[in-house]
Amino acid sequence: NQFRTNDIRTDNSPLQIFVKAKKKINDIFIEINDYVEDTTQFIGLLRENNKIIEPKEIQNVESYNAKVQGIRDVLKRDHMKVAFFGRTSNGKSTVINAMLRNKILPSGIGHTTNCFLQVEGSENGEAYLITEVSDVKQPVQSVGQLGHALCKEKLCESNLVRIFWPKDKCLLLRDDVVFVDSPGVDVTPNLDEWIDKHCLDADVFVLVANAESTLMIAEKNFFHKVSTRLSKPNIFILMNRWDASAAEPEFYDEQVDVQKEVRAQHQDRSVDFLVKELKVCNPKDAEERVFFISAKETLQARIQEQKDQPIHNVALADGFQKRYFEFQDFERKFEECISKSAVKTKFEKHSQKGKLIVTEIRQTLDEILDRTQKMKFEQEKKKKEVYNKINFIENQLVALTQEMKEKIHRIVEDVEQKVSKALNE
Ligand code: GDP
Repeated sequence: NQFRTNDIRTDNSPLQIFVKAKKKINDIFIEINDYVEDTTQFIGLLRENNKIIEPKEIQNVESYNAKVQGIRDVLKRDHMKVAFFGRTSNGKSTVINAMLRNKILPSGIGHTTNCFLQVEGSENGEAYLITEVSDVKQPVQSVGQLGHALCKEKLCESNLVRIFWPKDKCLLLRDDVVFVDSPGVDVTPNLDEWIDKHCLDADVFVLVANAESTLMIAEKNFFHKVSTRLSKPNIFILMNRWDASAAEPEFYDEQVDVQKEVRAQHQDRSVDFLVKELKVCNPKDAEERVFFISAKETLQARIQEQKDQPIHNVALADGFQKRYFEFQDFERKFEECISKSAVKTKFEKHSQKGKLIVTEIRQTLDEILDRTQKMKFEQEKKKKEVYNKINFIENQLVALTQEMKEKIHRIVEDVEQKVSKALNE
């Protein structure tokens, strides 16, 4: 009765790895943008002088502007995406609601999710949805309204409805996590289309299984297909409805033993599925990917606590606390996994591209500098040659004048001698 969820989330959340990395890479791209703009301006000034700069270089540098802008746009939109799969009614919508701490997605009988639903943070604090059929914003204030809006739409199972929920209502949305709920994998879906449309950019997959039964072929098949398209997808398995295994007071001891046995069986099979069948992780990591939870209880407890009402007001089965802690443990490991994976998959390519752009611009500038230095050297060489020539001519002139002077002198002397001789005679 005294149980508190201790759900205080702080900025120490592992999701901050992604949030900080996103801020950093965006800042770096602002600097790259400035650099590209400066270079374009500088090169523009040299444009007139086609000896220094080639038209192709101008084109190249100008094309970087568009490239950098394109990357900046993508970076602003980049988020962490988690997609939930499993059979109908295993509790996918309830798990998402429990993580969002709010009844956002409709769940339960009569509310089978018959298309893909994506929940993401809305920037302007409004709650609304848009469909693939029309991008008119339809306001959503309650789950009932959302359920109603979805019933109205004629959507096929691979269609996507995007639900925008105010970021300030949920820290996961604030930190750029996007949730995708899918129709049950038992709905004879076109799996290839599902994977192409909704899975290729997912950072984490969560298989919501029913702890009351074993993993179904349909569930396994889906993940086999996913793992042929993506190299080592991050998969978590949630054994949901674990509250159903709770022991009743009358049969406590026997039921606890059965529960342990069932749990061990589910655990072994799930680990085998991840390690031996899908080959997506090693046995040690796989142990950390399987959780026995009750999404329904977690959601109820969180909603009660938000209303400041005691948790024991809702009927909770024996072992609730343990299941609750396991849910929190799942969330922590999920957050670590998704943020690290998203940083790598979303930012690695961009940072390499950024480096390439900067290196290429630098190379172009180096080549231009090299060319101008060579031109300067050539000019100086020519100047020196002309100078040397002038010097040579000057020297020759001096020598010539000297020679002429002496010659004239000699002629004058000769004439004088001849004249005085003639006079004497
Ligand atoms: P989805 O079709 O996989 O999205 O399943 P829903 O989230 O709509 O859940 C189907 C029904 O199962 C709803 O009535 C939920 O309240 C119920 N449910 C979901 N999780 C649990 C759980 O952990 N324990 C129990 N007992 N019921 C659950």
